[in-house]
Amino acid sequence: MAEAGSYDVVVLGGGPAGYAFAFRAALLDQKVALVERDKVGGTCLHRGCIPTKALLHAAETMDAIKDASSVGITVGDPTFEWGQVQKSKSEPIKKLYSGLQSVVKARKVDLIEGNGTLGDRGTVVVDTKEGAKNVSAPNVVLAPGSFARSIPGLDPDGERIITSDDALVSDRFPQRIAIIGAGAVGVEFASIYRSFGAEVTVIEALDRVIPMEDADLSKELAANFKRRGITTHVAAKVEDVDKSDDGVKLTVGKANKTEMVDVDVVLVAVGRGPATDGLDLEKWNVVSDRGYIVIDDDNRAADGVWAIGDATAGTPQLAHVAFGMGFATAERIAGGSPISVDFERGVPRAIYCAPEVAAVGLTEAQAKEQGYDVQVTKHAFAGIAKAQMMHQARGFAKLITEQDGSILGIHMIGPRVTELLGEALVTVGWEARPAEVAAFVHPHPTLSEVVGEAALEAIGRPLHG
Ligand code: NAD
Repeated sequence: MAEAGSYDVVVLGGGPAGYAFAFRAALLDQKVALVERDKVGGTCLHRGCIPTKALLHAAETMDAIKDASSVGITVGDPTFEWGQVQKSKSEPIKKLYSGLQSVVKARKVDLIEGNGTLGDRGTVVVDTKEGAKNVSAPNVVLAPGSFARSIPGLDPDGERIITSDDALVSDRFPQRIAIIGAGAVGVEFASIYRSFGAEVTVIEALDRVIPMEDADLSKELAANFKRRGITTHVAAKVEDVDKSDDGVKLTVGKANKTEMVDVDVVLVAVGRGPATDGLDLEKWNVVSDRGYIVIDDDNRAADGVWAIGDATAGTPQLAHVAFGMGFATAERIAGGSPISVDFERGVPRAIYCAPEVAAVGLTEAQAKEQGYDVQVTKHAFAGIAKAQMMHQARGFAKLITEQDGSILGIHMIGPRVTELLGEALVTVGWEARPAEVAAFVHPHPTLSEVVGEAALEAIGRPLHG
């Protein structure tokens, strides 16, 4: 079999984890082979973060037009062609893809295109267009990513029952859609479809939307979804599915009753599974848990084998976590002692539905469970001038602080809060105290004042509160 060059490290998977690793390793003078069966950029660029946020931008534009009268501008009823809305995301994706390909070349990373499988220890066998190639190195990094999972009875067919992958390419706009799962994917798509006028029903098995976030954020988002006309069923399960040429009828079981939900399309958004099928991980003594690769604190899966990104066990499936894991692993393989990503407190979470949700650090419940004597302060956007000017003065920032100690978590919901995460992550990451945050005057009038005001409240010196 053909040998493909000589490498210090081979990476399987060119998504955010794999390419972040490859780019950093190359800067550290490692000779890197990057194996990718589809396109560099992975789920994030081609089927995830970027295309959904592009659609959310279109949805926000639609909402702004519908709301134009609030600033004295009269426009007619906006119309849209869904195929064109879908197309509007191609240009940014094309540019970002081309940018990534340039960095691959500039950093002299060898991109080997084809499906990779594990050969002899230290060798990835790549099924390329020119035939199978062996790519060997003393270190192998597994970054295979994830896929949209489904549930029994709701097998995606690409038409009536779809995943987020299908939703991002379909030219047909569903007038009535049910979304199963109210995690990040579920609430973002609910928001998109609603902005364009669809009848949206969200069905969540747990007792609140965005159940992984602070309970106050769930409550506020549910109230906003209700105001926007999105129907939400929580603590609910799909008990029966009746699919026909006309649509899908769902029987949804709740505590004491059953609801019928009649829709054109069902979007299944119940999480992402690890793309490790067919990798034969045991061959290299790599341990897996339901397909997720088990790693230690240094992202090591076995001797000379590392794993990063969505397919690793117990780590948040986020592109920026993948970047962080990639950087740390590259530094470690190159002989450095990097600080690993702090999955509990160091990972900002951004959900781009309307209103946006953004958080970092411990929720109130987590802080209490961990035994902290907790002080909670909240500041509402109603008191923030910029939010009032935008006619979007809903939501709040909530600070979780250890009594007389540092800020453990910041949780926000409201206009553009995802853009406020920069300050929040530095505050929590550096274990700042409210007095230290409050000592910085926040620019007026900006949305960032919501954090400054919450910190002022935490030290008993509110300005407008
Ligand atoms: P998720 O795990 O975050 O949410 C899935 C939701 O589906 C959960 O609330 C779960 O309780 C619910 N669920 C599971 N089975 C169900 C059932 N049978 N019936 C009803 N509800 C059910 O997964 P996701 O939203 O699909 O996202 C996948 C991953 O991608 C997550 O890790 C997410 O954080 C990440 N992601 C992040 C962003 C972002 O950061 N903005 C956007 C999209 C996805």
